[in-house]
Amino acid sequence: MDLREPVIELDCRLCRRRGGHERTRLVKAFGAGVSFAELTRRMTVGCERMNTVEGDQCATYFPCLMERISSCDED
Ligand SMILES: [Zn+2]
Repeated sequence: MDLREPVIELDCRLCRRRGGHERTRLVKAFGAGVSFAELTRRMTVGCERMNTVEGDQCATYFPCLMERISSCDED
């Protein structure tokens, strides 16, 4: 986990699940070495679109990962 933002946002366009998660709490819960893929899996437990007959249809993503190319790089 290489983001330094105190709050990491998670957004699912399909479920409209959107929220900020405190980084320190995520690290505490999942460990500092957790990958974003792993985080996505853990955080989307309960998303009914994750387990469909066609497989994973959930659109969960971390907005900051998308934006970091342009804006999260200024550190
Ligand atoms: Zn979802």
